[in-house]
Amino acid sequence: MNPGLLLVVSGPAGVGKGTIVRKMMENDTKFVFSVSATSRVPRANESEGKNYYYKTREQFEEMIKNDELLEWVEYCGNYYGTPRDLVCREIEKGNVVILEIEVDGALNVKRLFPDCVLCFIIPPDFDELEKRLRGRGTDTEESIISRLSRAKEEFKYLDKYDYLVVNDSIENATQRFISIVQAEQMRTNRNQSLINKFKNI
Ligand code: 5GP
Repeated sequence: MNPGLLLVVSGPAGVGKGTIVRKMMENDTKFVFSVSATSRVPRANESEGKNYYYKTREQFEEMIKNDELLEWVEYCGNYYGTPRDLVCREIEKGNVVILEIEVDGALNVKRLFPDCVLCFIIPPDFDELEKRLRGRGTDTEESIISRLSRAKEEFKYLDKYDYLVVNDSIENATQRFISIVQAEQMRTNRNQSLINKFKNI
């Protein structure tokens, strides 16, 4: 059995995180997506329990108070957080748990789980990002401006990540992620029982 893995995926709005993560999930049933809670209103193409658990600000604050979240942040005026229960359970089963979260949350997760793998998706260039963000047609002008400015802030943390994945095409970027997961699962520090087995022959 491959060892379980916590894969954290960050990247600016519009870079294609959602599409790449969906493609990865199609590739291997061992991937489990951690659905976050948010106080943001659903976009037209989103649904409860699939993209997010949609909460009012009051409900979200109640979750924080009850310690139901592994990490949470306020991003562009809304709350986002990772429910605690799924992550440990699925890693123990040998699954690859994917968190699609922003930079502050990612760095908090790294502190809690030093073995996790932090990956940041970058666009081929910044103009391309703005084009994609406008092209998806789901955000208001105010939200686009806020997200582009947030992207510039997030780029300052690139060197805290383990891997940078350029999204020049969805197929290439997905394949790069699959390679990262395969290599990480072969690391000696994740395979102590296999090492013991062969050491004791
Ligand atoms: P969006 O509103 O575009 O779905 O998400 C905005 C940002 O919040 C994205 O960068 C997304 O990765 C991040 N995000 C989504 N869920 C979580 C979460 O549970 N925790 C943190 N820290 N960020 C999240």
